[in-house]
Amino acid sequence: MAYDVIVLGAGVIGCSVAYHLATLGAGHIGVLERAPSLGSGSTGKATGGFRCQYSTAINVRLSLMAREKLLRFREETGVDPEYRPYGYLFVASTESQIQTLRDALAVQHEAGLPESRAVDIEEIRTLNPALYTDDLIGGTFCPLDGFMRPIKILQGYYEAARRLGVAFRFGVGQAQVWREGDRVRGVVLPDGERIEAGAVVNAAGAWAGIVAQQAGVNLPVQPLKRQVAITYPFAELPETMPMSVDVNDGFHLRVRDGRVLLLYPHAVHNEQTFETDFERAWLDAVQQRARHRVPCLRNARIDIENCWAGLYEMSPDKHVILGEAAELSGFYLVNGSSGHGVMHSPALGELLARLILRMELPFDITPLRPTRFAEGALNRDTGVL
Ligand SMILES: Cc1cc2nc3c(=O)[nH]c(=O)nc-3n(C[C@H](O)[C@H](O)[C@H](O)COP(=O)(O)OP(=O)(O)OC[C@H]3O[C@@H](n4cnc5c(N)ncnc54)[C@H](O)[C@@H]3O)c2cc1C
Repeated sequence: MAYDVIVLGAGVIGCSVAYHLATLGAGHIGVLERAPSLGSGSTGKATGGFRCQYSTAINVRLSLMAREKLLRFREETGVDPEYRPYGYLFVASTESQIQTLRDALAVQHEAGLPESRAVDIEEIRTLNPALYTDDLIGGTFCPLDGFMRPIKILQGYYEAARRLGVAFRFGVGQAQVWREGDRVRGVVLPDGERIEAGAVVNAAGAWAGIVAQQAGVNLPVQPLKRQVAITYPFAELPETMPMSVDVNDGFHLRVRDGRVLLLYPHAVHNEQTFETDFERAWLDAVQQRARHRVPCLRNARIDIENCWAGLYEMSPDKHVILGEAAELSGFYLVNGSSGHGVMHSPALGELLARLILRMELPFDITPLRPTRFAEGALNRDTGVL
């Protein structure tokens, strides 16, 4: 059977693209997933942070569009994404860190986010009384930021797409793009089955670079291992605590279902890998940071068996690569979200669907064009996360 569009990968981004293509009347849409079940890629490993506080206008716009769509998500898909705007609180210790945060605030305000603001030590203590603040001098806070449930967003788009007639196939193995000359012809499965399609979308997450390479397209997306430490249920920190991010080193934490999640983007021995084995040695470093910044965590115990690791999908400028591949007509890219893929998925799915259907876009997405690396026109990201 021939499809109008085939999406490779049924993570949150692939499902969002498929759903939006279906709502916009793109015709016959198929999604092919290598794994036997939904949520086996990075989406199932995400912690559920949502933020608008970024250092580039394009990322702020993606977040604002995604937030609008999260507010309507239940109505649209029937699933509650559990968006909880408890905020993101960035805290800093040096004047240069404060200047970086101030520069980002200016970008955010200019991009249509007046709600983000500078906070002094007193307000930091009010927003998160658990933080050790003696070595801090200020920070920023945005009340639109907060949390959502990655699996609910995935489930919502998957179920709604199916209701709209999108055909999903799981457990197909490593699907490859079938190209003829400089045009996409469809997809080839490992058993040799060929499926024709007018367009193919690469939504293969951290593995997107491999899918592109097999199609003869250079896509600079690399995996980056990220680890999460989880405590046993801990009553001393509230669920409503904002995501608290230490600009000194990127250490951040939140509370989910009564347990504290600790993240620290350093001290992982083997980062550039597709392996997702959890490195226990990293726990010492994260616990040290946690006990310094949040002293009451000295009373918390890590649930080692439930700690996990997953993969970010990094692009060279930490921004998503969105658009048709220059080398292969009909091959569309929505890759390299660099650890922000769940929160941006509502926006990215609609933007790519509109792009494929040559429909009007709500804002200029040229900063995300796939050719920017070859042109040397990278986005300038100064954010800590
Ligand atoms: C520890 C951790 C915490 C995170 N926290 C957050 C957060 O707080 N907020 C946030 O927004 N993001 C977060 N992320 C990032 C987020 O998980 C990703 O950006 C997002 O899940 C990417 O979605 P995706 O659909 O592109 O990828 P995936 O969910 O990985 O889906 C890609 C799918 O493609 C399939 N696939 C691969 N190759 C092929 C092929 N050849 N043929 C068919 N199928 C194929 C894979 O099996 C996979 O299911 C976090 C990530 C990690 C690891």
